[in-house]
Amino acid sequence: QAKASGGNGCELFDSSIHHQAKDRIQQEQELRRAIAQADFQVYYQPIVDLATRQLVSAEALIRWQKPGSGLVPPDEFIPLAEELGLIAPIDQWVLQTASRQLQAWQQLQPENAPPLKISINLSSQQINQNASLNELETVLQTLGSVRQHLRLEVTESVFIKNIDRATELFQRFQAWGMQICLDDFGTGYSSLSYLHRLPIDGVKIDRSFVAGMDSDPNKLAIVRAIVGLCHTLNKAVIAEGIENHAQRRLLMDLGCQQGQGYLFAPPLPADQIPAWLDTDPATATHRD
Ligand code: C2E
Ligand code: MG
Ligand code: MG
Ligand code: MG
Repeated sequence: QAKASGGNGCELFDSSIHHQAKDRIQQEQELRRAIAQADFQVYYQPIVDLATRQLVSAEALIRWQKPGSGLVPPDEFIPLAEELGLIAPIDQWVLQTASRQLQAWQQLQPENAPPLKISINLSSQQINQNASLNELETVLQTLGSVRQHLRLEVTESVFIKNIDRATELFQRFQAWGMQICLDDFGTGYSSLSYLHRLPIDGVKIDRSFVAGMDSDPNKLAIVRAIVGLCHTLNKAVIAEGIENHAQRRLLMDLGCQQGQGYLFAPPLPADQIPAWLDTDPATATHRD
């Protein structure tokens, strides 16, 4: 477009850069204000046993309640937060909010039911920053026993620089009863090497492989390989983005036992989760 406008191209270009810079400054200010005021909501997506459809966990997924813009999805502000070094306070807020919510839900569960777990996303960026790690540990210390029902999903936006530090950290978390999973497995910088270098309990197969595994033999082959690898290494494996019965069937046949996806439920506001807490198999079946 700049070319087509001939002599004015340069000006147009300058003004668009100017706009971008202005946009960015404005976005940064808005995000900082949102963090200060906790203008966020946590949605929860059920993670189910693929065979019984019973709830085993719920993944906490943040949304930004932006004045005048409704609910902004995380893909539109998490990358910016990471870039600006603002991800730590966001992840810590989610951790605290979701843990409080988990305690409330556990009170609603039948006595004999296995306690619900919550999965929390933890940006790998935070693992590289000592200051935020210390804060994270302090938050986890104050949470007390609810910790043992937390699953941390490490989302790999950046390479984990200090493997020794991460190992020590994950081991401490595991000693508290927490589980550590690698998120979006298969898409990251170094998923495979992390799997044996870090103390990891399980992986989440990325949605891009699950979507289409029922029509694309290459995707199916990748999912089969990931599930096989996890079985061999004795890791849990969870599938994300299950949208139809064919995918659910194939995953079960491969030996993947847990998953989440629109087939079961989208991310839901907290008040819609209690309906999922009834673990009586008789009522669970009519969700089929
Ligand atoms: P993720 O951790 O891989 O979460 C799964 C994403 O897949 C969610 O998107 C979920 O809504 C979506 N999804 C689940 N099932 C289906 C399906 O069947 N079909 C389709 N099309 N999508 C499905 P969402 O909520 O937009 O979150 C996007 C990403 O943002 C997350 O991906 C995670 O990486 C990041 N994120 C979300 N909350 C947080 C947070 O509190 N902290 C950090 N650091 N990252 C977060
Ligand atoms: Mg996740
Ligand atoms: Mg994921
Ligand atoms: Mg994903």
